[in-house]
Amino acid sequence: MSAQHRGWVRPSVKKMEMFMALEKKNRAILVKSSKIFIEKSLHFISSLMKYKKLASQQGQSYMQEILHSIFFLGLINRPRINPEDVLNEELALKLRQKFPDAFQIYRTKLPSRPPYSILLDVVVEITGDQDVPAVQKKLLDLNAKMHVPKLREDGTVCGNDFTLASTVVSYCYFSDSQQKTKNYFGVSVACKGGFQRSIFIDQACITTWNRNVAFAVCLADSESKSIQLPKSVFSAAFHMLNNLPQRTASNSNTPTQRYYSKPPCLKCLKIFPNVVFLPPPENNDTPAYWMSGNCAECEAISKLLNAESWVNDRVEFDPTVPTLEELLHERKERLYQNLRKTPFEV
Ligand SMILES: [Zn+2]
Repeated sequence: MSAQHRGWVRPSVKKMEMFMALEKKNRAILVKSSKIFIEKSLHFISSLMKYKKLASQQGQSYMQEILHSIFFLGLINRPRINPEDVLNEELALKLRQKFPDAFQIYRTKLPSRPPYSILLDVVVEITGDQDVPAVQKKLLDLNAKMHVPKLREDGTVCGNDFTLASTVVSYCYFSDSQQKTKNYFGVSVACKGGFQRSIFIDQACITTWNRNVAFAVCLADSESKSIQLPKSVFSAAFHMLNNLPQRTASNSNTPTQRYYSKPPCLKCLKIFPNVVFLPPPENNDTPAYWMSGNCAECEAISKLLNAESWVNDRVEFDPTVPTLEELLHERKERLYQNLRKTPFEV
C-alpha cells in the first residue's frame, strides 16, 4: 500500500471510530434516561392512583402510552435499544404483565407524542390549569428526580444528560371582554436527534395535533402565509435552565433547574402571527435553528383549539395557499422514508 493511500485510509478509519464512540455514548445516555423516566413516572403515577388523585384506568392509560413512546424511541435509535436493555428483569416482568401491549405495538404503531408530553398531561390533570407556578414546580420536582449526571473528567457533576425532558413549557388561553377559557399547556418536542424530532413532528401534523395547528406548521415550512387565529389568543412560554452547581461543602453538586419567562422565537411568530405573546417578541432577527413544530406553543395551541371549538371555528386562512391535504402528502412521504431507515415495521 502506498504512503498516499495509507494517508487517505487512516483519517477515515479514525473518523469512523470517533463516530461509533459517540453513538455508543449517546446510546448509553438514552438507556439511562429511558430507565429513569420509566421508573420515576411509574412511581409518580402509581402513587397518584393509590391516593385517588388519578383514576386507575386513566393512570394505566398514561403509563401504557409512556412505555409505548419510550420503547419506540429505543427502536429507532442507532444502535437499537430493546426494552430489556432499559429495564431490569424484575421490572420488565412486572410491566410485561401489566402492559403487554406496550411491549408489542412500539414496533408497528407510531406513538402520538414524546413521553414528556404525556407526563405534562398527568401533571396538569392533578394540579389543575389555573396555577401555572404549581404546574412548573411539579415539573421541576420530577425533573430533579430524573437527573442523569453529566460528568467532568475529574468525576464531578457539570450538568444533566437526561435527554427526555422538554426545555420549554408554555400555556395559552383565549380572553376577551366577555369570556376567558382555561389555560392549555404544551411542551417542546423532547427527544434527542433531528431524525427523531422530524418523525414526531410529522406524526403530530398527520394525526395528533388540531388540523389548524398542523396546517399552520406546514404552511410555515412551505413559506406560505399562515392561518389567522381569532384575536385575543394569549401565549406565554418558559425556558428551563440549569443553575450550575456551586462546589461548596454544603452543596450536593447536583445542578438545580428553574423556568425563565421567554419571548417567542421567529418561527412561532410566523406560525401564529396574531397571537399575543407574553412577554412580547424581542427586537432581534436571529433565526431559530429548530424545526417548525418543535416549539411548546404548537402543542398548547393545538389543545386550546381542540377543546374550544368556537375558537377553532373562527380560524381563517388565505384561500390561495396550498391545501392541508397537499402539504400533508409531503409529510407522509417523508415520514414513510424516515421510518424505512429504522426497524419499525412500516
Ligand atoms: Zn417558537
